[in-house]
Amino acid sequence: MLIATRPSPAPLRAAWRLNLWTAATLGALLLALGLSVADAAQPAAAAAAGGTEVGPPPPGMFAPPGRSITHVAGDLYRANNGGWYVGFLVTPAGIVLVDTLSTDFARWLKRQLAERFPGKPVKYVIYSHSHWDHVEGGAVFADTATFIGQEGMLRNMDGRYPALPGDIVDRNDDGMLDAEEFEQPFTERPWFCGAFRSSVTSKAQGGGTRATPAEFFAEVRKPDIVYSERMTLRFGGKTIELVFPGKNHANDGTAVLFTDERTLFATDFPADALVQKTMRSLPSACGPFDGHPLSEWIRSYRTLEGLDFDILVGGHGAVAFSKRDVAEGREYFEYLRHEVDAAMRRGLSLEQMRKTILLEPYRDWAYYDQLRIPNIEAAYYNLKIYK
Ligand SMILES: [Zn+2]
Repeated sequence: MLIATRPSPAPLRAAWRLNLWTAATLGALLLALGLSVADAAQPAAAAAAGGTEVGPPPPGMFAPPGRSITHVAGDLYRANNGGWYVGFLVTPAGIVLVDTLSTDFARWLKRQLAERFPGKPVKYVIYSHSHWDHVEGGAVFADTATFIGQEGMLRNMDGRYPALPGDIVDRNDDGMLDAEEFEQPFTERPWFCGAFRSSVTSKAQGGGTRATPAEFFAEVRKPDIVYSERMTLRFGGKTIELVFPGKNHANDGTAVLFTDERTLFATDFPADALVQKTMRSLPSACGPFDGHPLSEWIRSYRTLEGLDFDILVGGHGAVAFSKRDVAEGREYFEYLRHEVDAAMRRGLSLEQMRKTILLEPYRDWAYYDQLRIPNIEAAYYNLKIYK
């Protein structure tokens, strides 16, 4: 069990509900090696941490490697790369794809789509958010597709250090993405925060340990069309709503409502890479919740709750979820905020909060033992920053 024991020195650190690239990199490694998580996790982690043994991820944390296409509802499908999913809608006029994951996966998917749905090219790619583990590889579809994202994606890709999850921030303020900045949060809280060094070193030109933002995004094709709050896409007889829920895990997220299928596709929020078969799972809470106010997280949940859908699927989670699952996530954040806020009003120290705020109603949620204290700490710093 690994718990952050010291506060973040930088007040506005990015944080995210779960360490996506760690798992993405691990998944790719496992695919390449044909190993199980148990076989490969420890040496992979040790290599990532520069020789520091950190141990394997908690049992059941990540889905096993493998790729497949599964039917969701109506004309909507998902395709997965281990625990990472894309969604796609098949229409008479072509295919609408949500996310591309990686160049290698995108090539595989393109071949699969050509076999299963001949004569139906991918005409639109919608990005769920700008984090690389979900959106690399778009160039594979650029011969036929138009790319759409929330407008924040262009800001994150304009040359500045982008908003990243997992408490990955520009710690040395040099504008470069340093391997150390990815590795340090991983070393402090393995499998929950940070990422492998290879997330940077594989992209840095010349084999170095620092990538420019342009190098880092080299395999992410920028959106051709962006929107601000909502956008309606009518295509092939279908109506698709793109919704910016608010800032949460990312600051440029899009939830995609397939209205004819009454299905919402959303990635990393509200279900992150820790989620497999239940959303009753504590958030990893790296940094003060991704640098976004708890009120924004709660607003984001409410935005999704206000949409008209029957099931929710997305970038993570082996099953379909319900609107009630979304509401439970919002209730968790409201409860956490209330408990920590009340303790602050009573003048309790953070150390006292760690001991007395037990989050009792959530004792049976996944990762309660590992993540109760990080959640309290993240909420405490969040409420200090965003008064
Ligand atoms: Zn993400």
